[in-house]
Amino acid sequence: MRGEPVAEAGGFVSTAMHAPVAGKVKSLDRALNARGEMAPAIVIEYDPDADQEAVHGEPRDITDMSPDDIVQAVQDAGIVGLGGAAFPTHVKMKPPEGKIVDTVIVNGCECEPYLTTDFRVMVEHAKWIVEGARLARRATSADTIVIAIENNKPEAIEAMMEAAPKDEPFVVRSLATKYPQGAEKMLTRALLKRDVPSGGLPSDVGVACFNVATLAQMGQLIPAGQGLIERIITVSGGGVSRPGNYMTPLGTSLRYLLEHAGLTEKACAIVNGGPMMGASMPSLDIPLTKGATGVLALTEEEMRDTSRQIFACIRCARCVDACPMYLNPSMLGLLARKERYEDMAEHHHLNDCFECGCCSYVCPSNIPLVHFFRLAKAVNRERSASK
Ligand code: SF4
Ligand code: SF4
Repeated sequence: MRGEPVAEAGGFVSTAMHAPVAGKVKSLDRALNARGEMAPAIVIEYDPDADQEAVHGEPRDITDMSPDDIVQAVQDAGIVGLGGAAFPTHVKMKPPEGKIVDTVIVNGCECEPYLTTDFRVMVEHAKWIVEGARLARRATSADTIVIAIENNKPEAIEAMMEAAPKDEPFVVRSLATKYPQGAEKMLTRALLKRDVPSGGLPSDVGVACFNVATLAQMGQLIPAGQGLIERIITVSGGGVSRPGNYMTPLGTSLRYLLEHAGLTEKACAIVNGGPMMGASMPSLDIPLTKGATGVLALTEEEMRDTSRQIFACIRCARCVDACPMYLNPSMLGLLARKERYEDMAEHHHLNDCFECGCCSYVCPSNIPLVHFFRLAKAVNRERSASK
């Protein structure tokens, strides 16, 4: 049946998985993912005679659930950060020993151009977001829930103000529209004037931050006793004739989704995510997973002209001015070219970079800085895993 569990969590920083389609598990295999890596995959053969409407799960009373029960239910439902990070949500709901969370931030600042997933969720499912935020507050024992939305989304602000109960500690805040407002460290600073320390987490300054789509899934699935099997994905760009937000079962092939949205010959690049943080898709034959926020089919006119990619740093410092984390991307770029990846992490705060892409965007030499940083982090991860 659709929604039946097919994999259990393999540890605390891991979640269960559920069948997005009624059928039979055919094999455990490996499949190409959006990052171009071969990753473990569960292959399910679709049953053409099965009822694809019914979803496995039993409704439950959530009023008396303890914080630990809520954390367990979120892990069992397979809920991860749907803003793109796909980090297990229940982990954020259990503050580390000795840390006190006083504020839950509901992140409705979807700041990447083209992407409108979170906007639609706020307009259409505000009540589920409120329910999910209540669960997050109970699990973390926070005092306040702050809903943050950029001021270019008045419809979403109105929907959330209407849904947020006046007799509970909800506050709706409208913020300036600027990139990268939606990054959790930026939001914490903008809303509460608290700076997350280098190498630290929002819980170090009393904050737990959740994306609106994640909370909407929590608010819908936990009372229904169901697992995460589908998500909304924005399909946009001049290369599709029917751009929009599509409710997409997990595991759907990227090719199928793009064809469904009217992929045309004008598309010359397919990007996973938004134009700032996204990356080119390695193939159209990949299954879409929980972290897929959007897919862009960009035309030549929408692409950045990189014909002037001279690669030489002219020390203009524009990247330094643009970095919201106060890093020195120019220096990090020079070290990356020398493959001094460990030095970048140990002495130049590489891991504070959240890959917003601002430095690459402003660089007059078109140096692909953020790609260097992604590569450096991946190499460091591999090296520390092999150690
Ligand atoms: S913006 Fe580009 S050219 Fe200017 S300092 Fe940074 S890396 Fe060098
Ligand atoms: S991508 Fe560039 S601008 Fe963004 S945080 Fe990293 S170094 Fe700073």
